[in-house]
Amino acid sequence: MKHQEADCLFCRIVRGEIPAKVIYRNEHVVAFRDITPVAPKHVLIIPVRHISSLSELQPEDEAIAGQILLATGAVAEILGIKASGYRFVFNSGADAMQSVFHIHGHLIGGQQMGWPPFP
Ligand code: AMP
Repeated sequence: MKHQEADCLFCRIVRGEIPAKVIYRNEHVVAFRDITPVAPKHVLIIPVRHISSLSELQPEDEAIAGQILLATGAVAEILGIKASGYRFVFNSGADAMQSVFHIHGHLIGGQQMGWPPFP
């Protein structure tokens, strides 16, 4: 598949080589349940195309960036939290504790959250 990396965990989920609880997909993005949820609802939305982090997004990726954001409403509706609210978080780099280097937004909800998000 074009624009994929052989050994990237999330590229492998896109290709169906590693099982995941996929709840939504279209030609641009895939959304699946986080394996270690931090809230009652926790889904990762990733681009089909491999891009390692927000910092690597290029001007030509504008449409993909938009598709990731556009998917949040559809995913929130599937999760039943569109009306109650949710948070969409990207971890980028070491301080944010990014651990998988294929862009992913964490869509989390299903409970009241606080702000700021750190103690
Ligand atoms: P981050 O720390 O922002 O890079 O988040 C990576 C996320 O990927 C974590 O929340 C992990 O729980 C999640 N994760 C890692 N492996 C898998 C997997 N095989 N399926 C679903 N989620 C995963």
